[in-house]
Amino acid sequence: MKDFYDVLIVGGGPAGCGCALSLHESNLQVAIVDKESFPRDKVCGDAIPGPTFKVMDKINKNWGVALRNFADKEEVKTSRAFVPNGQSFSINWKGYSYNSKRIHFDNF
Ligand SMILES: Cc1cc2nc3c(=O)[nH]c(=O)nc-3n(C[C@H](O)[C@H](O)[C@H](O)COP(=O)(O)OP(=O)(O)OC[C@H]3O[C@@H](n4cnc5c(N)ncnc54)[C@H](O)[C@@H]3O)c2cc1C
Repeated sequence: MKDFYDVLIVGGGPAGCGCALSLHESNLQVAIVDKESFPRDKVCGDAIPGPTFKVMDKINKNWGVALRNFADKEEVKTSRAFVPNGQSFSINWKGYSYNSKRIHFDNF
C-alpha cells in the first residue's frame, strides 16, 4: 500500500465497495481496508435485488453489465414467502435479480 490516501474506507462489503466505485473518477486516492481476508463469507440471504443493477449502471454502465454477467449466481424469477401459520405466497419478479453467495459476490 502507499503511505497516503485521500479517502480511507473501512469495510469492503457492498457499502464500502459502492463508495469506492462511486469515487472511481474523482481523482482521489482511495483505499479500502477490511478486518477480514477476502474471500470472506457473511450471514446473508444472498439475494442481489434489481435496484443493485440500477445503482451500478448509474456508477458505470460497463460495471452494471459486468455485475449482470457475474458467473457465481442463480437467477431468481420467483420467491416463496411463508407466514407463521404455515401458509405461503409467491412473488414473481419482473426485474432481473439473482442469488449469489456473499463469499463469491463480495470477493467479486
Ligand atoms: C440474516 C441476514 C440476511 C440478509 N439477506 C439479505 C439479502 O438476501 N439481500 C440483501 O440485499 N441484503 C440482505 N441482508 C442485508 C445485507 O447483508 C446488508 O445490507 C449488507 O451486507 C450491508 O453491507 P455493508 O457493506 O454495510 O456491511 P457488510 O456487508 O457487513 O460489510 C462490512 C465489512 O466491514 C468489515 N468490518 C467490520 N468492522 C471492521 C473494522 N473494525 N475494521 C475493518 N473492517 C471491518 C467486515 O469484515 C465486512 O467485510 C441480510 C442481512 C442479514 C443479517
